Amino acid sequence: MSIDNLPPLRDIVEKYGLAARKSLGQNFLFDLNLTSKIARSAGDLTDMTVVEIGPGPGGLTRAILAAGAKHVIGIEKDERCLAALDEISAYYPNRLSIISTDALLIDWRALTIEGPCCVIANLPYNVGTLLLTNWIGSADWPPRFESFTLMFQREVAERIVATPENPHDYGRLGVLCGWRTEAKILFDVPPQAFNPPPKIISSVVRITPKINPLPCNVNTLSKVTQHAFGQRRKMLRQSLKGLGMDPITLCNNVEIEPTARAETVPVDKFVALANRIDQQ
Ligand code: SAM
Repeated sequence: MSIDNLPPLRDIVEKYGLAARKSLGQNFLFDLNLTSKIARSAGDLTDMTVVEIGPGPGGLTRAILAAGAKHVIGIEKDERCLAALDEISAYYPNRLSIISTDALLIDWRALTIEGPCCVIANLPYNVGTLLLTNWIGSADWPPRFESFTLMFQREVAERIVATPENPHDYGRLGVLCGWRTEAKILFDVPPQAFNPPPKIISSVVRITPKINPLPCNVNTLSKVTQHAFGQRRKMLRQSLKGLGMDPITLCNNVEIEPTARAETVPVDKFVALANRIDQQ
């Protein structure tokens, strides 16, 4: 399939000497059918500013632009990719800006964006979870972004969407995401779709912020889940020791069995625990 008249991605990678670097989580997508599927799964992009973390040689960037995004802001740490991205910028005048930096250093509130915006990214696996928890744990809510369409390792994707019905995967990430977002795994991507192929299956996840999640202090919630899941095989009456309140009284106050284990406790009860601690 041809979505534009730019050169094939393999040629771009060769032309600019973009041999993949493991330290930068570089597993590139060359198949524009697949990148178009990811871009489409983010919904209607017309009038949308899209922030893309790690555009690399630009496979997903091209698909997002071809899907009609008003503007793409790409944040890329690897300066070797900049010349390749300049070619895309020239092909789509005034629709692609690149910020050449580490996405972990960005102050998202300081980013000037007009109109609706969302995040789409084939995330570098080494920083993907941290980026997500920084966005979702932000002091400002709702966030600037209407949605996040992100590629993760399948195992991380399962933890993002997990509930007590999936006790094996349910943990701190599931509580944080379940509290403030609706998250859904859209589809899997096999290793052979990437260059070089990773050892694991990947999944595209769509995460939509809730406008009015239950009120709660994110730091207290994080502390509670750290204790509860830090010793996940223990009962809460044991694992919640050290939170500054008798754990049995704390559980009784919010109608949780002190003998329950963290993996059986739904998100709203973790929120209630955090709020009860803050009421002290
Ligand atoms: N979007 C491209 C694709 O789908 O083919 C590349 C995806 S590759 C999995 C991850 C990209 O993120 C690489 O281009 C890498 O250089 C970039 N990257 C890695 N760490 C980064 C960071 N901390 N901030 C911004 N970009 C980063």
